[in-house]
Amino acid sequence: MAEDQNNNSDYEDICYICRRPESIAGKMIHIPNNICICNDCMQKTFNSMDQMGPLFNMPPYMDMFGGKMPEHAEVPKNQKLKKRAEKKAKKEKKPDGIFDIEHLPAPHIIKGTLDEYVVGQEFAKKVISVAVYNHYKRVLTDDMEDDGVEIGKSNMLMVGPTGSGKTYLVKTLARMLQVPLAITDATSLTEAGYIGDDVESVISKLLAAADNDVDKAEHGIVFIDEIDKIAKKRSTNSRDVSGESVQQGMLKLLEGSDVEVPVGATSKNAMVPMTTVNTSNILFICGGAFPELEKVIKKRLTRQSAIGFNATLSDEFDKDKNLLQKVTTEDLREFGMIPEFLGRLPVVFALEAMTEEMLVRVLAEPKNAITKQYQKLLRLDEVDLIFEEEALQEIAKKAVEKKTGARALRAIIEEFMLDIMYEIPKDDLIGRVTITKEYIEHKGSPRIEMRGSGNAKLLSQKDGVTEA
Ligand code: ADP
Repeated sequence: MAEDQNNNSDYEDICYICRRPESIAGKMIHIPNNICICNDCMQKTFNSMDQMGPLFNMPPYMDMFGGKMPEHAEVPKNQKLKKRAEKKAKKEKKPDGIFDIEHLPAPHIIKGTLDEYVVGQEFAKKVISVAVYNHYKRVLTDDMEDDGVEIGKSNMLMVGPTGSGKTYLVKTLARMLQVPLAITDATSLTEAGYIGDDVESVISKLLAAADNDVDKAEHGIVFIDEIDKIAKKRSTNSRDVSGESVQQGMLKLLEGSDVEVPVGATSKNAMVPMTTVNTSNILFICGGAFPELEKVIKKRLTRQSAIGFNATLSDEFDKDKNLLQKVTTEDLREFGMIPEFLGRLPVVFALEAMTEEMLVRVLAEPKNAITKQYQKLLRLDEVDLIFEEEALQEIAKKAVEKKTGARALRAIIEEFMLDIMYEIPKDDLIGRVTITKEYIEHKGSPRIEMRGSGNAKLLSQKDGVTEA
């Protein structure tokens, strides 16, 4: 018997599974109970175990011929994530509420979809929904019978403080309608000396966003931010023409003209092929914070109300928080926008400044709210993330102090989430993290609960996880 077990035996080893001798199947692997298995059969065994599901799902890097099994045969986390991603890619479909302009939705449906993403701004959402509906109705009926009635363009001018959601509204709209979008800053249009070329560079951007498809680009949206920066200077005596000439340069574009743009590049160059894009059906939306516009509005309202029987006190409008909502083209002209420019932006409306309550809602309610994004990230590590209501209020309070509207929220929350996102994946046992008001106030720690037990721990702000 002893001799049998000895490798020096006179008999060849035979594979327990395929019955081939060592001289044919190659060197055998010896496992307890005097069993020999050839490399091929061992490999096949592992392959079939691999296909049987997570229980046997051994990592592919396992070196079976080195003879060592990993300490745990559990599926590694990154492999789980990969599987989820594959599953998701398989059932890839249009996100909810997305539609194309061929099936133009009614204004209330457009607003309904905007509501899912943009908090507050009820009036702005209503105006924008109607304007967009009319604009695309005009675009879609463009080629139909010509009865002499021409529907005008619905280019828009949005007035609203920083971080009130101007850009976000436009981005949401373009994604919803599946039309290309180009965003540019009016300030960049003044920087280069060649104003004509520069203004047209917006259309190059749009063409790029439309994957160089001219037809698609001609139905797109152009958003020009910081439009207030190209107002004529009011306070100086010297003649300032730079802003005014950019406004002049944009007139043709807004109204509709053929623009020669390079394909696949942003600058004109002898080597780059050119194409012509007609801007008549492009929806132009201009936006700006228009600081000090409130003063202009107040002055007008006070002047108007100081006459006649209904005369009011001059400080009556000081208390009005939403003075911007009363904006008219006359105020914008007074601010420094030229009449021809304003004439090509017939839809003028204002957004409200973000209040603390609105900011709390921005944190939690929209479909892709920032707290939901963090929750999703941690859920992939199988950790529940909970934000206490008071913690959200504290974050909103800090954001209001920064005076940059909803823009401040991300920076604030990122600062607090950094430690959490760093520390939590270290410990597989953590099952739940609660962001408390104390943590936001730098007075305490987030509450950590371990998986399967009622144990709560506190995460120290400096050195990882410590017992409460
Ligand atoms: P601006 O008015 O200065 O163009 P943005 O639209 O760029 O401001 O807003 C910055 C960010 O703040 C957006 O990306 C969005 O996440 C958030 N935000 C701003 N306003 C709102 C809102 N009303 N509802 C939801 N999120 C908002």
